[in-house]
Amino acid sequence: MKLLKIGAILSTALLAGQTAIAQERFITIGTGGQTGVYFVVGQSICRLVNRGSADHGLKCTAPSTGGSIANINAIKAGDMDMGVAQSDWQFHAFNGSSKFEEGGAFENLRAVFSVHGEPFTVVARADSGIGSFDDMFGKRVNVGNPGSGQRATMEVVLDAMGKSEDDFALASELKPAEQSAALGDNKVDAIVYTVGHPNGSIQEATSTVDAKLVSVTGDAIDKLVDENPYYAKATIPGGLYKGNDENVQTFGVKATFVTSADVDDDVVYTVVKAVFDNFDRFKGLHPAFANLKEEEMIADGLSAPLHPGAEKYYKERGWISGS
Ligand code: GLU
Repeated sequence: MKLLKIGAILSTALLAGQTAIAQERFITIGTGGQTGVYFVVGQSICRLVNRGSADHGLKCTAPSTGGSIANINAIKAGDMDMGVAQSDWQFHAFNGSSKFEEGGAFENLRAVFSVHGEPFTVVARADSGIGSFDDMFGKRVNVGNPGSGQRATMEVVLDAMGKSEDDFALASELKPAEQSAALGDNKVDAIVYTVGHPNGSIQEATSTVDAKLVSVTGDAIDKLVDENPYYAKATIPGGLYKGNDENVQTFGVKATFVTSADVDDDVVYTVVKAVFDNFDRFKGLHPAFANLKEEEMIADGLSAPLHPGAEKYYKERGWISGS
């Protein structure tokens, strides 16, 4: 069994002549770039967990990371306890397919719950002449940092279209926190981000320069959606960003919260309880969480088995059957 990075520290404190024993345990949640929504997911979960630290001893941190693939790999290596990952990459990691074929199936990957929807989002400078996905070929495109979900999903999309990154004049690898400035500075013509809406990155991109969200549709996308349970058609509503009043059609995935079977049941139970016992508060922490529904979160976008610690809480609430 792998040694987990959950430090178990027994500290003793003298309280009113008695010896009280508090067990402190530290957990780390992998997120994404600081201008994305994963960062807020991790920070919000930790905030709710840490409110109860005096009772349960769990202390949670949620640092910025490279995104989905980096988080799954960090959990597999035992470097992180939990993380946020796109539903497509949860599926492939558990099954050892696509980008996870080489490293083999991560059989101990466990689902906890899903969060918000993440449309595959393309934003182009208005002066680039890009009006559709196809228009990007021959142009400068930020395909995203390695380790991010959008980079990996972009490769799937290109492959489905019979194209590759070589079909762009430039395929840059900037992180989400850098890409909006690059668009504004005319270093790239378009950026790609699989992300919940609204978010700080696209807000920055559309407020620093005249930039338009681009639809991602066509036969190749229809086929991807038809053939894969973790993809669905998605609409980015108009009116969320400056100069973008129309709805934009694309496809998308779900953000999901995952962990490893090696993480203790009571740790996962405590984290899940902190979120769902304070669900209204959680939903208020980001506009992308506003429409979350418990029954969807424990079912949609999850392809790895539920972690027993999460299952225990869902049974207690009567959300899944006890047998
Ligand atoms: N979907 C992105 C990824 O997997 C992250 C989006 C976000 O940070 O909100 O890397």
